[in-house]
Amino acid sequence: MESLPIRVFGDPVLKRVAEEVQDIDGTLADLCGRMLESMYEAPGIGLAAPQVGVSKRFFVYDYGDGPKVLINPEIVESEGEWEYDEGCLSVPGMSWNIVRPKMIHIIGYGLNGEEISIEADELESRLYQHEMDHLDGKLLLDYLDEEQRKEAKKILRQMIMRQGNTGPEGPRKIQFP
Ligand code: ZN
Repeated sequence: MESLPIRVFGDPVLKRVAEEVQDIDGTLADLCGRMLESMYEAPGIGLAAPQVGVSKRFFVYDYGDGPKVLINPEIVESEGEWEYDEGCLSVPGMSWNIVRPKMIHIIGYGLNGEEISIEADELESRLYQHEMDHLDGKLLLDYLDEEQRKEAKKILRQMIMRQGNTGPEGPRKIQFP
């Protein structure tokens, strides 16, 4: 299955609030397969549909126990605080210490229409929260103060002008696409 290019900062699809998935069908399953290809290639542990230009509410991920899909996800509970140096394949080559809830309870649907319910802590919890942000048109830059954001945008603009979609060393190893 052929991978799809990952959209980077500056692409308007990343700022859009994605729409609920209406039909869980073969087309969606194929798209998930191609997104997983892109995610493993990157490599990353999660990839949200808007990152491949599809403004729909689902993401693919692999937290060490195989490829998975979460459709129309919703965080129903969150608790505590946890700081982590978080990066994003759509914001290549950069990362920031960001505080978010430590534990979450997330629900959604799988590709067979089955209900999924996950309670996650720390890094796994961070993965889902990060992907949820993509569905709401939010990027890491939205968590920065004004000065940090200005600096980041400057670097990103220069990088995008110079290199297109990849950074100076080509695609890099960032955990959160
Ligand atoms: Zn991301």
